[in-house]
Amino acid sequence: MCGIVGYIGHREAYPIVLKGLKRLEYRGYDSAGIAIYDGKEIQLCKTKGKVVDLEQKIKEETPTSGTLAIGHTRWATHGIPNDINSHPHYSNSGNLVIIHNGIIENYDSIKKELIKRGYHFHSDTDTEVLVNLIEDVIKKEKVKLGKAVQIALNQVVGAYAIVVFDKAKPNELVVAKLGSPLAIGLGENEFFVASDASPFIEYTNNAIYLEDEEMAVIRRHKGVKIRKIKDDSLVEPYIQELQLNLEQIEKGGFDHFMMKEIYEQPSAIKDTFRGRLLADQGIIKVGGLEDHIQKFVNANRIVIVGCGTSWHAGLVAEYIFEDLARIPVEVEYASEFRYRNPIITEKDVVIAISQSGETADTLAAIKLAKSKGAFVYGVCNVVGSTISRETHSGTYTHAGPEIGVASTKAFTTQITVLTLIALKLASVKGTISFRDYNIYLRELDLIPKRVEIALKSNDHIKSIAKIFKDAKNFLYLGRGYNFPVALEGALKLKEISYIHAEGYPAAEMKHGPIALIDEEMPVVVIAVNSNHYDKVVSNIQEIKSRKGIIIAVVTKGDTTVRNMADYVIEVPETPESLTPLVTTIPLQLLSYHIAVLLDRNVDQPRNLAKSVTVE
Ligand code: GLU
Repeated sequence: MCGIVGYIGHREAYPIVLKGLKRLEYRGYDSAGIAIYDGKEIQLCKTKGKVVDLEQKIKEETPTSGTLAIGHTRWATHGIPNDINSHPHYSNSGNLVIIHNGIIENYDSIKKELIKRGYHFHSDTDTEVLVNLIEDVIKKEKVKLGKAVQIALNQVVGAYAIVVFDKAKPNELVVAKLGSPLAIGLGENEFFVASDASPFIEYTNNAIYLEDEEMAVIRRHKGVKIRKIKDDSLVEPYIQELQLNLEQIEKGGFDHFMMKEIYEQPSAIKDTFRGRLLADQGIIKVGGLEDHIQKFVNANRIVIVGCGTSWHAGLVAEYIFEDLARIPVEVEYASEFRYRNPIITEKDVVIAISQSGETADTLAAIKLAKSKGAFVYGVCNVVGSTISRETHSGTYTHAGPEIGVASTKAFTTQITVLTLIALKLASVKGTISFRDYNIYLRELDLIPKRVEIALKSNDHIKSIAKIFKDAKNFLYLGRGYNFPVALEGALKLKEISYIHAEGYPAAEMKHGPIALIDEEMPVVVIAVNSNHYDKVVSNIQEIKSRKGIIIAVVTKGDTTVRNMADYVIEVPETPESLTPLVTTIPLQLLSYHIAVLLDRNVDQPRNLAKSVTVE
């Protein structure tokens, strides 16, 4: 995920594009770059770091005059964040310049082909491959830029929003979209393009949101022509009147980044699947795993290390790895592991989970595990982060930047990655039948849709939040796969509302916490269909007998728990081992609404930081 901006018109383009990049920085911020064209020379400046670093660099070394410019703020997927991998990228001739948001999945085979044909590459990005593919089409087919973009895009697999221009065509920008967002702002003889409308909201209220598989040629004096990439048919543009203010747009219309990120989960999970889950073909392909699969298969055990929410994702993984792949798993707080002289050998595989990839304790745990000869695998969100570099191999979650301090989409995408790995190992080891494996793949493919359905309970959950916002304590209970979800639900509430909450395995309640239950105590119970359903029902009865108040998360259509609980929240039916991906949604929403009602700083709760780089 990244932010892209472009301008073509009669004004100086640089200040417009620079300001636009600042507004889009929430989408990615590991590097930034701008290309400015005055009809004679292209000025291109890019750098690792934030947009302010780019601004400083441009001040020192780059002329900024020109009425055409494109800019990019990156969230790396291919190649670490550094100056060279930053966008824009030139084609080999220096005539084409591109910015790109997304992933070209088949970039490697195209790159090999282009290298055979004499092309060379400066960066590690998939984007530089695309711009050279377009250049190659122009040369081979003797076509203009627009046509070449269309032909090239019909050869690529993946997701993109691109803006590209040709030095020979100073009055033209070509844009295209599949999977990543792209809006075109329409002014008087001037045009804007951006990942969302925030960069041009003060210049125009008229925008076209390109649909997937559409491209547009934007000409300075002639306007916008939209076509379908596949069949070249012309598309009648649908011009929307924008009614949002700036603040709303940056948060995608949500009041807080946390809520935006909660709602991004269906697409974030899809992004995590992209190129890895091919349910129709019965294939799971996890890049970082393929070459090391025997390490996992032959491991004595897997040790998972993480902190906070990542540790909870590790606990879910423990259930699924042992259940499906029959590999023994231990899950450890990184901060404990690193100091307790653990027994680790070269027969162990250690999985380190961290959203930021910078968590100090997890990093120290990795170093310790490596020093003892273990194979260490990372699961991180931020590309090029220290943990992704320190581990032997790993998988990115591709959830996009998570800005809210309380983790939401990072958690569900970590579970998604770990589930893919568990299923892959299960199929390689033969611990799952061919039939069950394929059922799982199809069920996994349906998860984004089910998360979307779970999100529909938002208003109902908000009304429950109103009732319980003044509670002093909460208990969260779950069993099996949903025990870690109970822990995560309690953590979310503590983090952002500052209400004390405890997560427990439902059966453990009898060994202590049951003493806390009275008519003042809300108990959130995850009681979806599972092997433990009847046991959870008994636990609910035990709580009701002591006058506790039950808020139950149940499977759609449930009647048994509905008759006992004070409030129920339904989620779609899902195989038990995949339920954490849906049951966690209502718990995120509940804590969010309680925190908002209490007027807490939801995105930046007190005393916390997004990335814990100190031990
Ligand atoms: N895949 C491209 C890269 O890694 C674009 C990533 C993005 O969307 O920022 O440079």
